[in-house]
Amino acid sequence: MPKHIFVTGGVASSLGKGLTASSLGRLLKLRGLRVTLQKLDPYINLDPGTMNPFEHGEVFVTDDGGETDLDLGHYERFIDENLSRNSNATTGSIYQSVMAAERRGDYLGKTVQVIPHITDEIKHRVQRVAQQDVDVVITEVGGTVGDIEILPFLEAIRQFRNLVGRDNVCYIHVTLVPFIGPSGEQKTKPTQHSVTELRSRGIQPDVIVCRSEEALSDDLKTKISNMCDVERAAVINAADARNIYELPLIFHEEGLDDFVCNVLRIDGEVDLSSWQRVVDKVEAATDPVTIGLIGKYIELPDAYLSVVESLKHAGFHHGAKVEIEWIQSESVEGLLADGQLGHLDGIIIPGGFGHRGVEGKIAAARYARENAMPCLGICLGLQAMVIDFARNVSGLAGANSTEFDPQTKYPVIDLMLEQRGIEDKGGTMRLGAHYAVLANESQVAKAYDETVVSERHRHRYEFNDRFRAALETEGLWCSGTSPDNQLVEFIELPGHPFWVATQAHPEFKSRPDRPHPLFRELIAASLEHRRSPRTATSVDLTS
Ligand code: GLN
Repeated sequence: MPKHIFVTGGVASSLGKGLTASSLGRLLKLRGLRVTLQKLDPYINLDPGTMNPFEHGEVFVTDDGGETDLDLGHYERFIDENLSRNSNATTGSIYQSVMAAERRGDYLGKTVQVIPHITDEIKHRVQRVAQQDVDVVITEVGGTVGDIEILPFLEAIRQFRNLVGRDNVCYIHVTLVPFIGPSGEQKTKPTQHSVTELRSRGIQPDVIVCRSEEALSDDLKTKISNMCDVERAAVINAADARNIYELPLIFHEEGLDDFVCNVLRIDGEVDLSSWQRVVDKVEAATDPVTIGLIGKYIELPDAYLSVVESLKHAGFHHGAKVEIEWIQSESVEGLLADGQLGHLDGIIIPGGFGHRGVEGKIAAARYARENAMPCLGICLGLQAMVIDFARNVSGLAGANSTEFDPQTKYPVIDLMLEQRGIEDKGGTMRLGAHYAVLANESQVAKAYDETVVSERHRHRYEFNDRFRAALETEGLWCSGTSPDNQLVEFIELPGHPFWVATQAHPEFKSRPDRPHPLFRELIAASLEHRRSPRTATSVDLTS
């Protein structure tokens, strides 16, 4: 019978519950256990797929095409397992299942209520992931205790302990211990209130994880232990870390995994050596390299979370510290006019939706192309690079994507046939893992060291095959396609040090100890560019 760990949060949002769950997941995996993680989100949207990145950050895509919460990205990066759409459930999706059952008559005429019908469905979701081959399921409950919409989730996880037995459940509550400047003190009262709130819902936490800027004193830990009625060893301090990958080591040092295993009666020892090697690499990555990220949602860096982590992973591999310069795509043309992008070592053009800022992405693609600056395009980034090439090399004036100019004379990026006329904005894109075949001797095939690769997708528009010949004659290489050769998946530019793009989202598959090949090569080329900046004249695009 799998063991269950539930992670709740209090006092404030964005405390790092996801990173706590992920780090614990890694520690349990380092004990040889099979671990999976899931997130329960109390909001009503069916999934985050239609949510504004400004509000909710990145949408993380799973292999099976689930559009999920960004915490799943942390989970995958830390436990190094591919999760599925079932690893994220929202209030909306839970109600949808219950309503469908009600319409089918499954409830035999009973009044359908939050308790037991919604709570039963929540328990069912938790048990569904436990059916895989796993020893431990870690379930993070989004939001904070005290929120109205979290109540059914707290009730369900409270009942869960009875369902599977006391020794099989551990509750972890993550809180904030703020530092109050004028009194010069760390304050435990918010933690006490938060635990009181949790208890009023019938849940006594086994472990309290206290987030703080500076380390908590022993006295404070003892106080929290007394006030909140948890063992002294169960007060775990997570003071701000230098980097997130250090967290599993910090949590182990604090005794988190030992205590949790005690509660759950799990034997065994942890072997930290492989993770210690990851952290050593992170700390040795000091050679600075500056990458311009040309984005539309840069005010909320979480909108690009996996891209940022992938850049860092690639840096770890090369011993390089990646400094990201956040460049608002709308400002690119102005910056170029002032000659202000020349100091960059490389450029990344990530994905996005909608017209705003696209011209800036196209201008950045052109600048990189003409100045031999390494550039990686992802999804919309590929589309921007194709538009630049069509307009400025193939001479197709006004070429565009029909997403931005439905009347364009040269729709080099267009809707896929099956996407035409779809009004439903949720879950209707080309989603999830798709295979691509890479051309022998191409830069991408060399990077992957493979000619058949699988990447995750999330887009409606595609390279328009009608223009493939026109662009290829001018030197663009469509170096990866779908296995049936119908869809262009990768492009590159022979003769350019690194002007490479993919229609997919490679950032979802990078790991701290296994950087994604395209990011790895972008950073390699950017380090090279920094050492010997080349000018446009030194690049022979005809070769
Ligand atoms: N907006 C583009 C499309 O739908 C690109 C999407 C993306 O970058 N994820 O095809």
